[in-house]
Order: sequence, then C-alpha cells, then structure tokens
Amino acid sequence: MSKTLPNRPLRPATLLVRGGTSRSNHDETAEALFLTSGFVYESAEQAEATFAGGVQHFQYSRFGNPTATMLEQRLAALEGAEACRLTATGMAAVHAAMLSHLKAGDRVVASRALFGSCHWIVSTLLPRYGIEGVFVDGGDLAQWEAALAKPAALVLLETPSNPMLELVDLPAVAKLAHRAGALVVVDNVFATPLLQKPLTLGADVVVYSCTKHMDGQGRVLGGAVLGSKKWVEDVLQPFIRNTGPSISPFNAWVILKGLETLHLRVPAMCRSAAAIAEFLGGRQEVARALYPFAASHPQHALAKRLMADGGTLVTFDLKGGKEAAFRFCNALQVIDISNNLGDSKSLVTHPATTTHMRIGAEERAKLGITDGTIRLSVGLEDVADLIEDLGAALDAI
Ligand SMILES: *Cc1c(COP(=O)(O)O)cnc(C)c1O
Repeated sequence: MSKTLPNRPLRPATLLVRGGTSRSNHDETAEALFLTSGFVYESAEQAEATFAGGVQHFQYSRFGNPTATMLEQRLAALEGAEACRLTATGMAAVHAAMLSHLKAGDRVVASRALFGSCHWIVSTLLPRYGIEGVFVDGGDLAQWEAALAKPAALVLLETPSNPMLELVDLPAVAKLAHRAGALVVVDNVFATPLLQKPLTLGADVVVYSCTKHMDGQGRVLGGAVLGSKKWVEDVLQPFIRNTGPSISPFNAWVILKGLETLHLRVPAMCRSAAAIAEFLGGRQEVARALYPFAASHPQHALAKRLMADGGTLVTFDLKGGKEAAFRFCNALQVIDISNNLGDSKSLVTHPATTTHMRIGAEERAKLGITDGTIRLSVGLEDVADLIEDLGAALDAI
C-alpha cells in the first residue's frame, strides 16, 4: 500500500512533485500511465453498484481515469481548490466552464482583452443560444460597474491579458459580479498557479490551458477547470461526462510529469523576462515594453497586489509598424516565431497578423494592439543569448 501525504499544509514545490500521486498494487515510483478506455468489473453486482453510485470504481475514461485523477488532485491541491476536472484542451475548459453554467436568456460580462477563441465564444457562439455577451475594458472599473448594474449569470476575465498584459482588479470586479449574481470565471494561464491565486482574490472558478506552462515543453494539449466541490460535481461534471471533452490519459501523464518542474521553470522564466523587458525598454527601436512588474507598466501597483511575480511574457511595440515587426521576427536566430507560449523555448508572435487577426483592426485598436506589437514568451535559454538575439534582430530593422 502506498503511503499518504501528511495532513499538514505542504508547499507548492512539494505538491507539484507529489500531490495526487496514487500508486497501483505494483508500487511504482513514477505516476502510472493508465492508457485504457474502459475498466472491468468483478461481477454484474459490482457494475450495478458502480452505476448506482454506491461503489467507487472507474467506469470509462470519458468520466474519469486514474492518471487523469492524479493530475486533477495535484492541480486542486496546488490551487487550493476543492475540486478539479480536466479537459482535452484549454478551450474545452473555458467552453465547459461557461456552457455547463449558462442557459438561454442569461447575460455574460467579459473583459475585452481575451484569448482569441474565448472572445469568439462570447461574441459569436453564446448569442446563437440566446445568451447576451457584453464586453468591457478590463482595466476600467467604471465600465465593470455599469455592465454589472444589471443581473448577470457569469463574468469571464483574463489577468494579465493576452497579448497586452493588462490587469483586472479582480477583488473589486468579483465584488461587483457577485452582487449581480454572477459566477466569476478567471482564465489564469498567463499568471500560472504559482504567481496568482484567483480563488483567494474573489474568483469562483479558475480555468487553465495545461498546454502552456504546465506541460511547458511543447508536447501535448490539455485543460483544467477548478472550483468548489458542489459546482464541479453538480454543474460541470454532468456536462463533461455527457458531452465528452475528456483529456487523453497519455496527455494527463505528460502534464503530471511537466508539473514536477513548474516551480523551477516559472521563476527562471520570470527573471529572464524582467531582464529582457528592461533591455527592450532602453532600445530606441522600441516605443514601449510592457511587463507587469516593471515600474513603467501602467498598472504596476495592481500587478504587485495581485501577483507574486511579473510572469513569463513581455509585449512590446516597435516604432516601424508591420514592416519593422516582420523584419525583426525574421532576423531572430535563437527565438522562434510561434503563437504558443509558456514553453521552454522562447517564442515570438505578431498578434495583429496571427492570434488577433480575426478580431479586426477596430477591436485591435481598442485593445492597444498595433501593427508594431510583438508578444514574446520567454523560455529557459540563457538570458544573455536571448538578449544578444533580440539586440541583433533590432539592429536588423
Ligand atoms: C492557450 C490559451 C487558451 C487555450 O488553450 P488551448 O490549450 O490552446 O486550447 C486559453 N486562454 C489562454 C489565456 C491561453 O493562452
């Protein structure tokens, strides 16, 4: 029999390595990969009792799988949440959290600065089902106040946001949202569970794309939804069980192993990101460099209040517009052009022509995305090599 962890609170690094681990009868060291779609029963009576809910037994990997359960328990322990359910992708997590909770006639209030597909769900998908979507500028409390003066069923926000690293005053917005009757859902991908704890800041539900920092090595897709035991079991779980956005056990296993180094990778990436933001801010080709923990960030004080560190992304505007941005990206020799983020490899993207192309020029202008905006996801390479690569590419403009 495997031993259980002590009852006293354990620190994040310990939870990331050991949380949720449940050994099989072979007492393996590493978390086992249960690559199985189904499970067998000792008897017809046991099958009947399992389906009646009287016996705890895995039934089918769409409902639950031992490898996925280990990851759910590890993430719940890390987040300080009562319960967690995994999904196949981060978007499936956002979609499940919203659609499991909403019905025709409901109102959703969301910050405008959302990941592109989250924006599409609120602006395009939900209205098809008779759910009204209202966008506000996330950094403007007066807009939240006006939008939440009427009842709302759900508030969706991202802080810091993609790609402009704009912050939302989560405690203040959560108070307004709860008064309007809304469930507060926070997409915490940019902060990671190590740098910001939305549930302690007033959120009801936290969603992640595990594809990003949790795997962190560019291998698999995955998503997670965390919240109270009651909401997860009564609202979310029936939706996931019956609509089937379930994670592959293999992907859950890769993410479990990725988490073991999250507490080493994220602080290292933050240190490099802060140094890079400072370097970029001092270059004449750069109009402005945004990093939440830099004194020059317009919401620097709020960032320090909500987050433990500034995060792993730096966004900056090049003075020469699209032409300069493309020349810069094409001149990079170490850093790759890719729309992914949170990876051990540093990656740049030009939001106006990739991730934020579809929302159009008018919406981009509202978000502050220009044709010279570059988003840099800082990886684990030596920061001196990254700065040399960035410097040479700026020279090449
Ligand atoms: C990547 C991302 C998502 C979507 O996650 P996938 O795993 O790609 O489906 C959602 N929100 C944010 C902030 C993201 O960065």
